[in-house]
Amino acid sequence: MLTVANQKGGVGKTTTTVNIAAALAQSGLRVLVIDLDPQGNASTALGIDHHAEVPSIYDVLVDGQPLDEVVQPCSTVEGLWCAPATIDLAGAEIELVSLVARELRLQRAVQAAATKGHEYDYILIDCPPSLGLLTVNAMVAASEVFIPIQCEYYALEGLSQLLKNIELVRAHLNPGLHVSTILLTMYDGRTRLSAQVAEEVRDHFPDQVLKTTVPRSVRISEAPSFGETVMTYDASSSGALAYLEAASEMAERGAAGDI
Ligand code: ADP
Ligand code: MG
Repeated sequence: MLTVANQKGGVGKTTTTVNIAAALAQSGLRVLVIDLDPQGNASTALGIDHHAEVPSIYDVLVDGQPLDEVVQPCSTVEGLWCAPATIDLAGAEIELVSLVARELRLQRAVQAAATKGHEYDYILIDCPPSLGLLTVNAMVAASEVFIPIQCEYYALEGLSQLLKNIELVRAHLNPGLHVSTILLTMYDGRTRLSAQVAEEVRDHFPDQVLKTTVPRSVRISEAPSFGETVMTYDASSSGALAYLEAASEMAERGAAGDI
């Protein structure tokens, strides 16, 4: 179970969540995406209905509705499911403040679903671009943090804030929490800047950064408007191949970690 987090917007959290999830599902695994961003971009990208009346992750967090009751299958990829986010979730950040066990609500929902036999090989949580209660819920529910980093200037700015928050959650709420995976996205091999950012990130996090980088690709950015991941929209594109490679690196690490 991985929380895909970075409080910067537009770094590729959602794109990475849905495409890694699709790639893992295509290789035969059962994968759940939890959309925890009120924008609902992950739900859109997976072609999941998420208009205001649809049962959603809001109902799970705020009203305690069972997770399995809101999960929908993704129609383009077998083995892939999504707990969608609707616009209601925009209020959850505030509504959660006064609720009992406000930081633990997602964790409890996921654990309850698992005891009912709803098992997944991977659960990926797409976080909003903030470090509020929604992201904290994700960091309590999962033990691994997956950070996508955009290969642009300022890429590392804000990262220390994210790491500080991870440290706080680890100290107070989830002792097992750690950054397990970093993926360099929107990599442009023609620029020195991309290479420099990549080198700097690899220096700081030698064990976490995946070897694979995801290139800038028009096909990746077009896919969501068709309600598809790039894995089905254009499976042979450079972006799809990169996400496939990144997913297999993750799966190999996971398998090695199991031994
Ligand atoms: P976040 O969830 O961190 O806000 P997104 O995944 O929504 O970021 O990505 C921000 C924008 O960049 C989106 O329009 C997305 O389509 C685009 N994008 C993400 N990754 C790539 C890529 N590798 N190549 C081209 N466009 C990308
Ligand atoms: Mg997003």
